[in-house]
Amino acid sequence: MSTTRRPLKSLGQNFLVDQNIIDKIIRSANIDPQDAVLEIGPGRGALTEHLAQRVGRLVLIEYDHALAASLAEHYQNDPRVTVVDADVLTVDLAKLLGETTSSWKLVANLPYNISSPVLFKLLENRALFSKMVLMLQREVGERLVALPGCSDYGVTTALLGLWFDMRREFIVPPGCFHPRPKVDSAVISFVPLTKPRVEVGSEETYRRVVKGAFAMRRKTLSNCLKATKLAAPEELNRLLDFCGIDGQRRGETLSMEEFAFLSRCLSEGHE
Ligand code: SAM
Repeated sequence: MSTTRRPLKSLGQNFLVDQNIIDKIIRSANIDPQDAVLEIGPGRGALTEHLAQRVGRLVLIEYDHALAASLAEHYQNDPRVTVVDADVLTVDLAKLLGETTSSWKLVANLPYNISSPVLFKLLENRALFSKMVLMLQREVGERLVALPGCSDYGVTTALLGLWFDMRREFIVPPGCFHPRPKVDSAVISFVPLTKPRVEVGSEETYRRVVKGAFAMRRKTLSNCLKATKLAAPEELNRLLDFCGIDGQRRGETLSMEEFAFLSRCLSEGHE
């Protein structure tokens, strides 16, 4: 199942070539023989081969038509494996996976150029999954697991952290791929929560508060929030006081609980 064509940079094709890392990713997913697994971007099948040996059902979404065709041919006699030749960003995951089993695992060495939209798509579709193990650019991975006050802490930390327990499994150096990427990668595991980590009132308001708070990193929280137009400036100041949050702080110093408190007050028309 390999094509000899040169890897496509436009599709983020950095193929895993290090067996030790491949084994560690598979171990991180805690695969059971009855598991149903989705792999995004199987590429030349470095992870796929190991998954296919271990799982009850395997769905592969690959956007490179030549690689998808090669995978389809390779697994044509294996009824457990389905190859979907498509852009993961346009696939209706609930329709594709939802009808067969309610709990999928996801394993992916993601193309770095689409990691953010894929993360937000997975956030939307979190109910389909019991565990996800993703290889991401290290910088993106570090942001997900950052703590308040760190420069890495940001929108993705607070939005994905609301719905997932996220853990940095290990770091992967460029030499484990062909071709070598310019930066380190990180393998992050995600376990969806059954309810949000903190009560936020309206999720849309929470999203707007978080995005607003990080929109201008050099500005104070008070100024950032005013730009969101979630409430009149004097009302926002009153609310910050009510929540015991100093408006002169920077967004990155707020805990998720503080974002949630603000969001609840704004959602409920204040207290
Ligand atoms: N899983 C393989 C491995 O670890 O060696 C390949 C990983 S490579 C970093 C990313 C893979 O995602 C490539 O095979 C690429 O063609 C595929 N890909 C890129 N964009 C995609 C998209 N929008 N939807 C689905 N697959 C995509």
